[in-house]
This record gives sequence, C-alpha cells and structure tokens, in this order.
Amino acid sequence: MVHCLPPCGFSRCYVLSDREGLAVVDVGSVGAAEDAVRFITGQPGLSMAQVRFVLATHFHVDHIGGVARFLEFCAPGTKVFLTTLAIQYLQGQRKLCSLKGWGTGFLSAAVASMGYVRRLSHLNFGSLAGIPLPILRDHCDIGVDADRIFPLDGAGRKRYPLGFGGWDVVETPGHTEDSICLYQEAEGRLLTGDTILNLDAARGPELNRFCWNKQEIHRSFDRLKAELSPRVLYPGHGEAYSNNGENVLSCVRGG
Ligand SMILES: [Zn+2]
Repeated sequence: MVHCLPPCGFSRCYVLSDREGLAVVDVGSVGAAEDAVRFITGQPGLSMAQVRFVLATHFHVDHIGGVARFLEFCAPGTKVFLTTLAIQYLQGQRKLCSLKGWGTGFLSAAVASMGYVRRLSHLNFGSLAGIPLPILRDHCDIGVDADRIFPLDGAGRKRYPLGFGGWDVVETPGHTEDSICLYQEAEGRLLTGDTILNLDAARGPELNRFCWNKQEIHRSFDRLKAELSPRVLYPGHGEAYSNNGENVLSCVRGG
C-alpha cells in the first residue's frame, strides 16, 4: 500500500507498507521527517520499529534533506538506500549533475511546490547537500553514517527488484542522471520522483522540464511507456493521479 503523507514541504513523502514492513521514500526536510514519524506512529498497526529502509528517488536536497533527522527515530537497523551514483556524490567521487531549465521548469515548479509548505521546518533541509548549484556541488554530506547507507544496484539492468513489496526500481535518467522511479506491477502503482510532476490539478501530470538532459528524460519516458502500465501515479511533487483505471502514462503532458 502507498500512504501519501499530507503536504510536508516541497516534495511528496510516501510511506510504502507491506507484510515485510515499511519503506519511506523521499524524506525531503527536517519537518517532513517529523511529519513522517507522526504519521507512522498515528496509524493503527504501524510503528517506527517496522521501518526497514529510507530511499530517495534522486540526490536532491528536497528529497534527501530530512533523512538524517528521520533516522533519529528509527531502529538502528534501518537502512538508507541510495543509487550508486548518489553514493559517488556522497563519497566525493563525482559531482552532482548540473541542470537546465531554471527559468522554464524550475521556477514554476518551485512556486507551485511552495504551496505544500506548512511550517518553517519544511524549509529546513538539515544541510547543503543535494543542491545542484555550481558553488554547492561539493557539499554532499547528508549526516548519515556510512554503515547505514546501501546501494541500489541493478548491476547494469535498468529495471530490477527493490526486494520489498513487489516493487521494482526503474532507472529513469533525465531530471538528474541518478533519477529512479518505483513500480509495483501487481497494483499498477508508479512513484515517479521528479521525472513526472503533478502540480496543476487542471492540466494533469507533466514530464519535468527542469532537466539535466532533455533527450534522456524523453528516452526514459518512452521506456516507461513501452514497458509499464501504471494506473496510479505518485509524483515527487504534487498530487497522486489516476484516471478511471487508464494507463496514466498516456495522460502525461510533454511526453
Ligand atoms: Zn524535487
């Protein structure tokens, strides 16, 4: 099951529940971390002891800014899963990719995402890690001990099992080089991170225009369309989307 947290900052935070426990996706701020804890402890049958891992759809501040804070409430065995590229950023072996489309893509999404900020702590990112600006690309410490961080590694495959709840990791470079989506085929659910946003209820979901590589995001989207049939879309920013059981990828603008 996918639990969509109430607005808790720029990005959407999701809690995935399954018989095997809980996984939390995109804890983007200190406030989001605290909201996620409040949400989990407030749900009958759920507890923080069930959280197996935290995962980020890409290494951007609004998706990782609350991971360290969230771990303070987790059992010592709770892991953090990051892509192999993100781990290279953390270890200083690679710089965050730079992005294009600050005027056409970033501004409108940032303004719309501000509507999901409810408290000052939703703007507290804990550190400067994951900001794709040239002067900050060396700051990649997210304040999490290295022994808690594990790679999402498909050994060259673009789609591979997450090892939890029937979810697959689908690599979708474009917004950033390390972007991934999560797909649960049996239920037709797709978490899109920042590959697809849904910030305009009247117009519906849209392929992100704020990109590291436009060609790549189109290539990734074409692959999603060719291989997946999701009925519910859970974007990195904005509202979950479905359309009478239709394949939601056919409803995405700009794809
Ligand atoms: Zn984002």
